[in-house]
Amino acid sequence: MGLGVVLLCAACGCRITAAASRGGADERAPGPGRAPGRNISFEGPASASNAPPQDAWYYLERQASFGPRNPGSAGHQKVAEFLVSELAKSADDVQVQPFSVVYGGATYSMANITALFRSAAGDERPFILLGAHFDTRPRAERDPIPARRFTPIMGANDGASGVAVLLEIAGVLGRTRPPVPVMMAFFDGEDLGTSIDSMFLGSRHFAEKVNPSHVRYMVLLDMVGDADLDIYVEGHSQLSSPDLVDRVWSAAERLGYGHVFHREVRYHILDDHVPFIEKGIPAIDIIDFDYPYWHTTLDTVDKCSPRSLQIVRDVVLEVILRDETAHSPLHKPEGF
Ligand SMILES: [Zn+2]
Repeated sequence: MGLGVVLLCAACGCRITAAASRGGADERAPGPGRAPGRNISFEGPASASNAPPQDAWYYLERQASFGPRNPGSAGHQKVAEFLVSELAKSADDVQVQPFSVVYGGATYSMANITALFRSAAGDERPFILLGAHFDTRPRAERDPIPARRFTPIMGANDGASGVAVLLEIAGVLGRTRPPVPVMMAFFDGEDLGTSIDSMFLGSRHFAEKVNPSHVRYMVLLDMVGDADLDIYVEGHSQLSSPDLVDRVWSAAERLGYGHVFHREVRYHILDDHVPFIEKGIPAIDIIDFDYPYWHTTLDTVDKCSPRSLQIVRDVVLEVILRDETAHSPLHKPEGF
C-alpha cells in the first residue's frame, strides 16, 4: 500500500491559500522541495488567522489516534495527509517530496513533507531547517514480550513527539514571522529497517537535493516527549557543530532548563541529522535516548508529558525567534 498523499491532494481538489493568508506573498518555493517534489497548491478557506492555536500535546495525541504510522500502513497515510492539511494553515508553502524505497522485497512509497515560513523581511533563504521524522517503526524488536516483537509500535515518543513540537511551532510562526526564514522538514523512512542503508531514508533524500548554501543550520527533534526528560548533548552533534550545540544549550539555560538540557555527551546517535553534517551543514540532534520503551509496544502516550514537549518548544522558539546571534555564521562541519 502506498502513501497516496499526493494523489489524494490532487484528487480532492481542495485548494489552500496559505500564501494569501500570510499577506499575499507569492508561492515561489525554495530549493529543496521544489525540484523533486510537488507543490501542494490548493485553495480554500484555511487561513492562519482563522486557525485555532493547538499545542504540541494535542498534536501528539492526534498522531497516536492514527495508530502505528509505519510505511505502508493506514496510519502512515493518515498522518501524512494530516501534516499537509495542518501545515497549510500556517506555512507560506507546503510541499510533498515523494520517493520510493525497495526494502525486504517490497517497494514502499514515501514522502517528506516540507513547510516554509518566510522571514519578517519576506526572505525565503537561507533558512533554519527544523526536522523530525513522522514514520514509526514497523516492528517492536526490543519488546520485553517476544511475541510482540513483530508488532508495529505506536511511537508516541519515537515519531510523534518531535512532529508534535514542530506543528505547534508552525502555528506560532503562522502568527509571528521569524527574523530569519524557517523551513520544517517532516522526514519519512527514518525507522524502517535494521541496517544503516535502510534508515534515515527521507532525510538522506532531502539532504541529497538541498543546496547547502540555502541552509543556515539544522536542528532535529527526536524522542523529546519522555515524561522523564533529560537531554544530553549528542556526540556527532558536538563533534561536527559545537557552536550550534552551544547556541541551543545556552538558550535552554537562559530559560531555566539547565536541569533538562545537560552539557555532557552521553550517546553518539546516528539519526536524521547525519546526512546534513555529511553535506557540511551545521546540524544537531535534540534527543533523549534514555527511554526504556524505545522500539517496544510500550512507547505510548502515557509515557510522554505535555511539560516535556513544552520545554523543547520553548527552547526551539528561543533560538529561532529571540536569539540575537542567529544571524552570525556557524562553524561548518568538515565531514562525518
Ligand atoms: Zn526509532
